[in-house]
Amino acid sequence: FVAATHDATGEQVPTRDLSELAPPARPARRWTPKRVVITPDALDHPHAHRIVERVEARGIEVERLRANRLTGVRGATERETYALAKSTMAIVVSPPSRRKLQPIAPSADWRVDLAEGCPAHCQYCYLAGSLSGPPVTRVYADLDDILGGLEPYLGQGTITSRRADRAQEGTTFEASCYTDPLALEHLTGSWTRAVEFFGQWEAPVQLRWTTKYDDVAGFVGLPHAGRTRVRFSVNCLPVSQRMEGGTSTVPDRLAGLRRLALDGYPVGLTMAPLMPLDGWREHYGHLLDLVEAAVDGVPDLDLTAELITHRFTPGSKEVLLGWYPGTRLDMDESRRTTKRGKFGSTKYVYPEDVMTEMRTWFTDELARRLPELHVLYWT
Ligand code: SF4
Repeated sequence: FVAATHDATGEQVPTRDLSELAPPARPARRWTPKRVVITPDALDHPHAHRIVERVEARGIEVERLRANRLTGVRGATERETYALAKSTMAIVVSPPSRRKLQPIAPSADWRVDLAEGCPAHCQYCYLAGSLSGPPVTRVYADLDDILGGLEPYLGQGTITSRRADRAQEGTTFEASCYTDPLALEHLTGSWTRAVEFFGQWEAPVQLRWTTKYDDVAGFVGLPHAGRTRVRFSVNCLPVSQRMEGGTSTVPDRLAGLRRLALDGYPVGLTMAPLMPLDGWREHYGHLLDLVEAAVDGVPDLDLTAELITHRFTPGSKEVLLGWYPGTRLDMDESRRTTKRGKFGSTKYVYPEDVMTEMRTWFTDELARRLPELHVLYWT
Protein backbone atom coordinates (compact mmCIF):
# COMPACT_ATOMS: atom_id res chain seq x y z
CA PHE A 1 0.00 0.00 0.00
CA VAL A 2 1.87 3.01 -1.27
CA ALA A 3 0.74 6.59 -1.84
CA ALA A 4 1.00 7.57 -5.49
CA THR A 5 0.97 10.67 -7.64
CA HIS A 6 0.93 10.96 -11.43
CA ASP A 7 4.11 11.82 -13.31
CA ALA A 8 4.27 13.73 -16.59
CA THR A 9 3.33 10.61 -18.57
CA GLY A 10 0.27 10.00 -16.45
CA GLU A 11 1.91 6.99 -14.79
CA GLN A 12 1.32 6.54 -11.08
CA VAL A 13 4.57 6.86 -9.16
CA PRO A 14 4.88 5.88 -5.52
CA THR A 15 5.92 8.77 -3.30
CA ARG A 16 6.00 7.53 0.23
CA ASP A 17 5.96 4.20 1.98
CA LEU A 18 2.66 3.90 3.81
CA SER A 19 3.20 0.40 5.12
CA GLU A 20 2.35 1.43 8.70
CA LEU A 21 -0.93 2.84 7.38
CA ALA A 22 -2.01 -0.13 5.32
CA PRO A 23 -5.75 -0.78 5.54
CA PRO A 24 -6.03 -3.06 8.56
CA ALA A 25 -6.17 -6.77 7.78
CA ARG A 26 -8.56 -7.04 10.70
CA PRO A 27 -11.96 -5.32 10.60
CA ALA A 28 -12.38 -1.84 12.08
CA ARG A 29 -12.62 -1.80 15.85
CA ARG A 30 -16.24 -2.10 16.97
CA TRP A 31 -17.57 -2.10 20.48
CA THR A 32 -19.91 -4.89 21.59
CA PRO A 33 -21.79 -3.84 24.71
CA LYS A 34 -22.56 -6.61 27.21
CA ARG A 35 -25.92 -5.11 28.06
CA VAL A 36 -28.24 -2.84 26.03
CA VAL A 37 -31.33 -1.31 27.59
CA ILE A 38 -34.05 0.98 26.28
CA THR A 39 -36.32 3.27 28.26
CA PRO A 40 -40.11 3.45 27.69
CA ASP A 41 -39.89 7.09 26.49
CA ALA A 42 -37.23 6.24 23.93
CA LEU A 43 -39.60 3.78 22.25
CA ASP A 44 -41.75 6.75 21.11
CA HIS A 45 -38.99 7.80 18.68
CA PRO A 46 -38.46 6.21 15.25
CA HIS A 47 -34.68 6.38 15.60
CA ALA A 48 -34.86 4.16 18.70
CA HIS A 49 -36.35 1.43 16.54
CA ARG A 50 -33.55 1.80 14.00
CA ILE A 51 -31.02 1.42 16.80
CA VAL A 52 -32.81 -1.63 18.23
CA GLU A 53 -32.79 -3.22 14.79
CA ARG A 54 -29.03 -2.66 14.41
CA VAL A 55 -28.28 -3.96 17.88
CA GLU A 56 -30.47 -7.05 17.54
CA ALA A 57 -28.99 -7.78 14.11
CA ARG A 58 -25.69 -8.20 15.99
CA GLY A 59 -27.26 -10.83 18.20
CA ILE A 60 -27.49 -8.54 21.25
CA GLU A 61 -30.72 -8.60 23.19
CA VAL A 62 -32.29 -5.22 24.02
CA GLU A 63 -33.75 -5.12 27.50
CA ARG A 64 -36.97 -3.05 27.79
CA LEU A 65 -36.88 -1.10 31.05
CA ARG A 66 -40.13 -0.49 32.94
CA ALA A 67 -39.16 3.07 33.93
CA ASN A 68 -37.00 5.78 32.43
CA ARG A 69 -34.44 5.57 35.23
CA LEU A 70 -31.40 3.38 34.55
CA THR A 71 -30.89 0.65 37.11
CA GLY A 72 -28.40 -2.15 37.60
CA VAL A 73 -25.29 -0.14 36.75
CA ARG A 74 -23.87 0.14 40.26
CA GLY A 75 -21.59 -2.56 41.65
CA ALA A 76 -20.30 -3.18 45.17
CA THR A 77 -17.11 -1.20 44.52
CA GLU A 78 -16.10 1.75 42.37
CA ARG A 79 -14.21 -0.61 40.02
CA GLU A 80 -17.24 -2.86 39.67
CA THR A 81 -19.50 0.09 38.93
CA TYR A 82 -17.02 1.29 36.31
CA ALA A 83 -16.92 -2.14 34.64
CA LEU A 84 -20.71 -2.54 34.66
CA ALA A 85 -21.39 0.96 33.38
CA LYS A 86 -18.68 0.92 30.70
CA SER A 87 -20.12 -2.26 29.20
CA THR A 88 -23.71 -0.95 29.13
CA MET A 89 -25.40 1.02 26.38
CA ALA A 90 -28.71 2.73 27.11
CA ILE A 91 -31.08 3.99 24.42
CA VAL A 92 -32.69 7.06 25.98
CA VAL A 93 -34.27 10.41 25.13
CA SER A 94 -31.80 13.30 25.45
CA PRO A 95 -32.25 15.42 28.59
CA PRO A 96 -34.14 18.68 27.85
CA SER A 97 -31.07 20.69 28.98
CA ARG A 98 -29.10 19.22 26.06
CA ARG A 99 -31.58 20.54 23.53
CA LYS A 100 -30.60 24.12 24.32
CA LEU A 101 -27.24 24.27 22.61
CA GLN A 102 -24.18 25.69 24.35
CA PRO A 103 -21.24 27.49 22.69
CA ILE A 104 -18.15 25.32 22.57
CA ALA A 105 -15.13 27.50 21.84
CA PRO A 106 -12.50 27.10 20.57
CA SER A 107 -13.69 24.06 18.58
CA ALA A 108 -17.06 25.16 17.24
CA ASP A 109 -19.93 27.58 17.53
CA TRP A 110 -22.30 25.07 19.10
CA ARG A 111 -22.20 21.74 20.80
CA VAL A 112 -24.82 19.21 19.68
CA ASP A 113 -25.01 15.90 21.50
CA LEU A 114 -26.17 12.69 19.82
CA ALA A 115 -24.89 10.52 22.68
CA GLU A 116 -23.14 10.79 26.02
CA GLY A 117 -20.48 8.41 27.28
CA CYS A 118 -17.84 6.33 25.54
CA PRO A 119 -16.82 2.68 25.70
CA ALA A 120 -13.06 3.31 25.53
CA HIS A 121 -10.75 3.39 28.54
CA CYS A 122 -8.41 6.35 28.19
CA GLN A 123 -6.59 6.93 31.43
CA TYR A 124 -6.74 10.70 31.01
CA CYS A 125 -10.36 10.73 29.81
CA TYR A 126 -11.70 14.26 29.78
CA LEU A 127 -15.19 12.95 30.56
CA ALA A 128 -14.03 12.10 34.10
CA GLY A 129 -15.20 14.92 36.27
CA SER A 130 -17.42 16.35 33.50
CA LEU A 131 -20.16 13.75 33.63
CA SER A 132 -21.73 12.61 36.86
CA GLY A 133 -22.75 9.10 37.85
CA PRO A 134 -21.58 5.74 36.47
CA PRO A 135 -20.08 6.07 32.97
CA VAL A 136 -22.87 4.38 30.99
CA THR A 137 -22.98 5.11 27.26
CA ARG A 138 -26.32 6.74 26.50
CA VAL A 139 -27.34 7.06 22.86
CA TYR A 140 -30.15 9.40 21.98
CA ALA A 141 -33.37 8.11 20.46
CA ASP A 142 -34.69 11.58 19.56
CA LEU A 143 -32.10 12.15 16.83
CA ASP A 144 -34.64 13.50 14.33
CA ASP A 145 -35.80 16.15 16.84
CA ILE A 146 -32.19 17.02 17.73
CA LEU A 147 -31.24 17.61 14.09
CA GLY A 148 -34.55 19.36 13.40
CA GLY A 149 -33.82 21.78 16.27
CA LEU A 150 -30.56 23.13 14.82
CA GLU A 151 -31.95 25.65 12.36
CA PRO A 152 -32.47 28.54 14.86
CA TYR A 153 -28.72 28.48 15.53
CA LEU A 154 -27.76 29.14 11.93
CA GLY A 155 -25.70 32.27 11.48
CA GLN A 156 -25.18 32.55 15.24
CA GLY A 157 -22.06 31.70 17.16
CA THR A 158 -18.79 33.23 18.08
CA ILE A 159 -16.16 31.12 16.34
CA THR A 160 -17.01 31.43 12.69
CA SER A 161 -18.26 35.01 13.01
CA ARG A 162 -15.16 36.30 14.79
CA ARG A 163 -12.45 34.33 13.06
CA ALA A 164 -11.83 35.32 9.49
CA ASP A 165 -9.81 32.14 8.87
CA ARG A 166 -12.85 30.01 9.74
CA ALA A 167 -15.64 32.09 8.21
CA GLN A 168 -15.93 29.76 5.22
CA GLU A 169 -16.96 26.90 7.51
CA GLY A 170 -20.36 28.49 8.18
CA THR A 171 -22.04 27.79 11.50
CA THR A 172 -20.17 24.94 13.14
CA PHE A 173 -21.70 22.18 15.26
CA GLU A 174 -19.48 19.91 17.37
CA ALA A 175 -20.96 16.43 17.82
CA SER A 176 -18.38 14.64 19.96
CA CYS A 177 -18.11 16.62 23.17
CA TYR A 178 -19.21 13.84 25.46
CA THR A 179 -18.72 10.76 23.32
CA ASP A 180 -16.79 9.09 20.50
CA PRO A 181 -18.95 8.86 17.35
CA LEU A 182 -17.08 6.12 15.49
CA ALA A 183 -17.12 3.92 18.59
CA LEU A 184 -20.93 3.86 18.39
CA GLU A 185 -21.88 4.41 14.78
CA HIS A 186 -22.27 0.69 13.96
CA LEU A 187 -24.84 0.43 16.77
CA THR A 188 -26.74 3.67 16.20
CA GLY A 189 -26.39 4.95 12.64
CA SER A 190 -26.76 8.44 14.18
CA TRP A 191 -23.69 10.09 12.70
CA THR A 192 -24.23 8.85 9.15
CA ARG A 193 -27.75 10.34 9.33
CA ALA A 194 -26.26 13.57 10.64
CA VAL A 195 -23.73 13.68 7.77
CA GLU A 196 -26.57 13.30 5.24
CA PHE A 197 -28.65 15.92 7.06
CA PHE A 198 -25.82 18.46 6.92
CA GLY A 199 -25.05 17.48 3.33
CA GLN A 200 -28.56 18.51 2.26
CA TRP A 201 -28.53 21.85 4.02
CA GLU A 202 -28.45 24.87 1.73
CA ALA A 203 -27.00 27.18 4.42
CA PRO A 204 -23.25 27.34 5.16
CA VAL A 205 -22.82 24.83 7.99
CA GLN A 206 -20.30 22.34 9.25
CA LEU A 207 -20.74 19.23 11.34
CA ARG A 208 -17.61 18.24 13.25
CA TRP A 209 -16.48 15.43 15.44
CA THR A 210 -13.33 13.80 16.69
CA THR A 211 -12.67 10.12 17.23
CA LYS A 212 -10.14 7.52 18.35
CA TYR A 213 -11.73 4.83 16.22
CA ASP A 214 -11.36 3.84 12.56
CA ASP A 215 -14.79 2.56 11.52
CA VAL A 216 -15.15 4.87 8.52
CA ALA A 217 -16.45 2.47 5.84
CA GLY A 218 -20.09 3.53 6.29
CA PHE A 219 -19.19 7.17 5.62
CA VAL A 220 -17.37 6.63 2.34
CA GLY A 221 -19.65 7.59 -0.55
CA LEU A 222 -22.25 9.43 1.56
CA PRO A 223 -23.56 12.71 0.09
CA HIS A 224 -21.62 14.76 2.63
CA ALA A 225 -21.15 17.83 0.37
CA GLY A 226 -17.93 18.62 2.23
CA ARG A 227 -19.93 19.81 5.22
CA THR A 228 -18.60 17.33 7.77
CA ARG A 229 -15.08 17.61 9.13
CA VAL A 230 -13.93 14.39 10.78
CA ARG A 231 -10.94 14.81 13.05
CA PHE A 232 -8.92 11.90 14.33
CA SER A 233 -7.55 12.17 17.81
CA VAL A 234 -3.91 11.09 17.74
CA ASN A 235 -0.99 10.93 20.10
CA CYS A 236 2.54 9.58 20.19
CA LEU A 237 2.84 5.83 20.61
CA PRO A 238 3.86 5.79 24.31
CA VAL A 239 0.61 7.59 25.13
CA SER A 240 -1.70 5.84 22.68
CA GLN A 241 -0.38 2.35 23.39
CA ARG A 242 -0.31 2.65 27.19
CA MET A 243 -3.19 4.93 27.97
CA GLU A 244 -5.94 4.55 25.35
CA GLY A 245 -7.48 1.16 26.10
CA GLY A 246 -10.21 -0.09 23.78
CA THR A 247 -9.48 2.36 20.95
CA SER A 248 -8.17 1.77 17.42
CA THR A 249 -4.43 2.04 16.90
CA VAL A 250 -3.05 5.37 15.70
CA PRO A 251 -1.99 3.92 12.29
CA ASP A 252 -5.54 2.55 11.86
CA ARG A 253 -7.04 5.94 12.76
CA LEU A 254 -4.78 7.62 10.24
CA ALA A 255 -5.73 5.07 7.58
CA GLY A 256 -9.34 6.10 8.35
CA LEU A 257 -8.40 9.76 7.93
CA ARG A 258 -6.85 8.99 4.56
CA ARG A 259 -9.95 7.11 3.34
CA LEU A 260 -12.25 9.99 4.28
CA ALA A 261 -9.90 12.62 2.82
CA LEU A 262 -9.80 10.67 -0.46
CA ASP A 263 -13.61 10.70 -0.37
CA GLY A 264 -13.56 14.51 -0.26
CA TYR A 265 -14.24 15.05 3.44
CA PRO A 266 -12.44 17.88 5.16
CA VAL A 267 -10.40 16.12 7.85
CA GLY A 268 -8.39 17.06 10.89
CA LEU A 269 -6.08 16.02 13.67
CA THR A 270 -6.94 16.48 17.29
CA MET A 271 -3.48 16.16 18.79
CA ALA A 272 -4.33 15.55 22.40
CA PRO A 273 -3.46 15.36 25.15
CA LEU A 274 0.09 16.44 24.33
CA MET A 275 2.57 15.45 27.03
CA PRO A 276 6.25 16.39 27.44
CA LEU A 277 7.35 12.79 28.14
CA ASP A 278 11.01 11.80 28.02
CA GLY A 279 12.04 11.98 24.37
CA TRP A 280 8.83 13.76 23.35
CA ARG A 281 10.33 15.35 20.26
CA GLU A 282 11.29 11.95 18.84
CA HIS A 283 7.96 10.38 19.77
CA TYR A 284 5.87 13.19 18.32
CA GLY A 285 8.24 13.35 15.34
CA HIS A 286 7.34 9.73 14.58
CA LEU A 287 3.65 10.61 14.86
CA LEU A 288 4.13 13.41 12.34
CA ASP A 289 5.92 10.95 10.02
CA LEU A 290 2.76 8.82 10.10
CA VAL A 291 0.55 11.85 9.46
CA GLU A 292 2.68 12.95 6.51
CA ALA A 293 2.39 9.50 4.99
CA ALA A 294 -1.37 9.39 5.62
CA VAL A 295 -2.10 12.54 3.65
CA ASP A 296 0.51 12.06 0.97
CA GLY A 297 -0.92 12.46 -2.53
CA VAL A 298 -4.48 13.26 -1.35
CA PRO A 299 -5.94 15.66 -3.92
CA ASP A 300 -7.47 18.93 -2.62
CA LEU A 301 -6.57 18.06 0.94
CA ASP A 302 -8.37 20.15 3.58
CA LEU A 303 -6.55 19.39 6.85
CA THR A 304 -6.70 21.14 10.21
CA ALA A 305 -5.06 20.53 13.57
CA GLU A 306 -6.17 21.27 17.11
CA LEU A 307 -3.38 21.08 19.66
CA ILE A 308 -4.36 20.44 23.25
CA THR A 309 -1.91 19.90 26.10
CA HIS A 310 -2.74 17.66 29.03
CA ARG A 311 -4.55 19.22 31.95
CA PHE A 312 -6.56 17.96 34.88
CA THR A 313 -8.72 19.26 37.70
CA PRO A 314 -8.87 18.07 41.33
CA GLY A 315 -12.22 16.45 40.46
CA SER A 316 -11.04 14.66 37.32
CA LYS A 317 -7.90 13.41 39.10
CA GLU A 318 -9.98 11.86 41.86
CA VAL A 319 -12.33 10.14 39.40
CA LEU A 320 -9.47 8.91 37.19
CA LEU A 321 -7.52 7.47 40.11
CA GLY A 322 -10.70 5.60 41.13
CA TRP A 323 -11.12 4.22 37.62
CA TYR A 324 -7.42 3.54 36.88
CA PRO A 325 -5.60 3.09 40.21
CA GLY A 326 -2.44 1.78 38.49
CA THR A 327 -2.21 4.61 35.96
CA ARG A 328 1.16 5.99 34.87
CA LEU A 329 -0.42 9.28 33.90
CA ASP A 330 1.50 12.12 35.52
CA MET A 331 -0.92 14.18 37.62
CA ASP A 332 1.64 15.63 40.04
CA GLU A 333 0.37 19.10 40.96
CA SER A 334 3.86 20.25 41.99
CA ARG A 335 4.98 20.05 38.35
CA ARG A 336 2.11 22.17 37.06
CA THR A 337 0.78 25.68 37.28
CA THR A 338 -2.85 26.48 37.90
CA LYS A 339 -5.25 28.12 35.54
CA ARG A 340 -8.74 29.32 36.34
CA GLY A 341 -11.32 27.53 34.24
CA LYS A 342 -14.94 28.39 33.61
CA PHE A 343 -16.98 29.04 36.74
CA GLY A 344 -13.80 29.56 38.82
CA SER A 345 -12.64 25.92 38.68
CA THR A 346 -8.93 25.12 38.98
CA LYS A 347 -7.05 23.40 36.14
CA TYR A 348 -3.52 22.09 36.40
CA VAL A 349 -1.56 22.80 33.24
CA TYR A 350 2.13 22.62 32.28
CA PRO A 351 4.29 25.58 33.32
CA GLU A 352 4.71 28.41 30.85
CA ASP A 353 8.28 27.54 29.80
CA VAL A 354 7.27 23.95 28.97
CA MET A 355 4.21 25.18 27.08
CA THR A 356 6.28 27.63 25.06
CA GLU A 357 8.87 24.99 24.20
CA MET A 358 6.22 22.51 23.05
CA ARG A 359 4.18 25.09 21.17
CA THR A 360 7.23 26.35 19.29
CA TRP A 361 8.27 22.83 18.35
CA PHE A 362 4.81 21.79 17.13
CA THR A 363 4.23 25.02 15.24
CA ASP A 364 7.58 24.78 13.45
CA GLU A 365 7.40 21.06 12.71
CA LEU A 366 3.84 21.20 11.40
CA ALA A 367 4.60 24.17 9.17
CA ARG A 368 7.74 22.51 7.81
CA ARG A 369 6.26 19.07 7.21
CA LEU A 370 2.63 19.89 6.33
CA PRO A 371 2.49 23.39 4.83
CA GLU A 372 -1.15 22.88 3.75
CA LEU A 373 -2.27 22.16 7.34
CA HIS A 374 -4.19 24.88 9.15
CA VAL A 375 -3.76 25.00 12.94
CA LEU A 376 -7.07 26.03 14.51
CA TYR A 377 -5.82 26.53 18.04
CA TRP A 378 -3.30 25.60 20.74
CA THR A 379 -4.30 25.27 24.35
FE1 SF4 B 1 -12.69 9.42 26.99
FE2 SF4 B 1 -12.33 10.09 24.41
FE3 SF4 B 1 -11.02 8.05 25.45
FE4 SF4 B 1 -13.62 7.87 25.05
S1 SF4 B 1 -12.04 8.06 23.47
S2 SF4 B 1 -12.51 7.18 26.90
S3 SF4 B 1 -14.27 9.98 25.50
S4 SF4 B 1 -10.80 10.22 26.04
